[in-house]
Amino acid sequence: MAKLIARNPNEPEFHQAVREVVESLASYIIADPALQKMKVLERMAEPERVIMFRVPWLNDRGDIEINRGYRVQMNSAIGPYKGGIRFHASVNLSIMKFLAFEQTLKNSLTTLPMGGAKGGSDFDPKGKSDNEVMRFCQSFVTELYRHIGQDTDVPAGDIGVGAREIGFMFGQYKRLRDEFTGTFTGKGLGWGGSSLRPEATGYGVCYFANEMLATRGESFKGKVVTISGSGNVAQFAAEKALQLGAKVVTLSDSSGYVYDPDGLDHDKLEYVKLLKNVFRGRIKEYAERYPNAKYFPGERPWGVKCDIAMPCATQNEINGDNARSLVENGCICVAEGANMPSTPEAISIFHSNKLLYSPGKASNAGGVATSGLEMSQNSMRIKWTREEVDEKLRSIMCNIHEVCVKYGTEEDGYINYVKGANIGGFMKVADAMMSQGCV
Ligand code: NDP
Repeated sequence: MAKLIARNPNEPEFHQAVREVVESLASYIIADPALQKMKVLERMAEPERVIMFRVPWLNDRGDIEINRGYRVQMNSAIGPYKGGIRFHASVNLSIMKFLAFEQTLKNSLTTLPMGGAKGGSDFDPKGKSDNEVMRFCQSFVTELYRHIGQDTDVPAGDIGVGAREIGFMFGQYKRLRDEFTGTFTGKGLGWGGSSLRPEATGYGVCYFANEMLATRGESFKGKVVTISGSGNVAQFAAEKALQLGAKVVTLSDSSGYVYDPDGLDHDKLEYVKLLKNVFRGRIKEYAERYPNAKYFPGERPWGVKCDIAMPCATQNEINGDNARSLVENGCICVAEGANMPSTPEAISIFHSNKLLYSPGKASNAGGVATSGLEMSQNSMRIKWTREEVDEKLRSIMCNIHEVCVKYGTEEDGYINYVKGANIGGFMKVADAMMSQGCV
C-alpha cells in the first residue's frame, strides 16, 4: 500500500478500493508463494492503459467548452475491457481508477468473459440541452472510438450516462467506424440492446439481497426499505423491492432526500421515472406532488428507520455516523447498488454488528452481467426474451452469492461478503494472469 500510495498520490478513492482488497487477500496471498512471485496483485493495481483526452464542444450559445475525458483499461486477463462511462462534475483520475479496479473483480464474479475498465468525463449533463449533450457525446467518442471495439473494450452507462447518452455515443461510433457492432451496451431495445438491461442492476441488487436475507430465514416481505439515489439503479431497485412485498420509503438526489411514510407504489414510481428520465427534474418535486411526503434538503436518508438499506447513488455516501444510525435503528441488511458507497469505517461498523452487508462489486454486478448477455446476443445476432434474460440474471446473482458464502464464511458462521467477493473475484483473474506470463 505504501508503494501504491507513493506512485499514485492524490488518489484517495483508488487507495481506498485497493486497500479493501489487500486486507481481504493478505493471508491468502501470503500462503501462496507463486502469487507473490508473479506480483499478481501489484500488477492488478497498475492499469494496463490510461487514456486521458481533451473533449472540446460548442454550447448552445456557440461558445467553446472544454472537458476532460478518461478511459482506464485496467485488466484484460479474462476478456475484453468492460465497464461504464460516468459523466459527473466530480470525475477525476482517482475515481476512474477505483471504479476500474473494482470492475475487474466484479466482472470476474459474474463468470462471464469480461476484463475491467471504466471511463467518463467531468462533464455535468445537468442543465444541458439535448443538443449540448449530443455535441459533447460526439466529441467524446471522436477520440474514444480508436481505443474501443467489440473485441477490445465495450463501454456502457453509469452516473449521468443513460439511454440518451449511449444512443449519441453509439451513433457517432458507428459513423466513424462504419460498422454496426456491439461496442456499447445499454443500447435501445430496437437497435441491439438487451431486454432487461435498464432494470438489471437494481433488480440484481434485490435478488442478491434476497439471498442474503434467506440465510437468516428472512425475505423482503413486509420490510421497510430506504434507498438513496433516484436514477437508474435506485428506480429499479425500488421497483423490484415493491414487487417482493417491501415498503420503500425514501429516494434521494444530490440535493436531498424525500421520505414518504406511506411508501412508494406503482404510480408513484412511474412518476419518479418520468420526473428523472424525461423531465430531468429534482427529487424534491416528489414531495410537492405527494403532500404526505417530506423533503429534507442537503441530507441523506440513513437516519430513517428501516430494515433494509440500499445505497444506490454514489461512493462514500454512508459514513461511520450514518452506519451507526442504521444499526441503532434496527437495520438488518445493507445491500449496495452503488459502487463503494460505504466508507471503511461504515463497513467495519456493519461487520462488528454482524449485519448482512454486501459490497457493490457483488450485489450490483447484475448490470454488467446483463451487459455481458447483451454482448453475447449481439455476437450471435439473436435476441433473448425478457424472461430468458431475467432467468439468467437471477442465476448469476445466486451464483455470486454462493461464491461469497464459500470464500467469506468465518469461523462463527458470519458471512463476510467483502472477503468472499474479493477472494472469489480475484482467483479467476489471478489464475489467468499467472497462465499468461509477465504481461
Ligand atoms: P444515475 O445517473 O442514473 O443516478 C445517480 C443518482 O445518484 C442520481 O439520483 C444522482 O442525483 C445521485 N447522485 C449522483 N452523485 C451524487 C452525489 N455526489 N451525492 C448524492 N447523490 C448523488 O446513475 P446510476 O443509477 O446508473 O448509478 C448509481 C450508482 O450505481 C453509481 O455508483 C454507479 O457507479 C452504480 N452502478 C451503476 C450501474 C448501472 O448499470 N447503471 C451498474 C453498477 C453500478 P443527481 O440527479 O442530483 O445527480
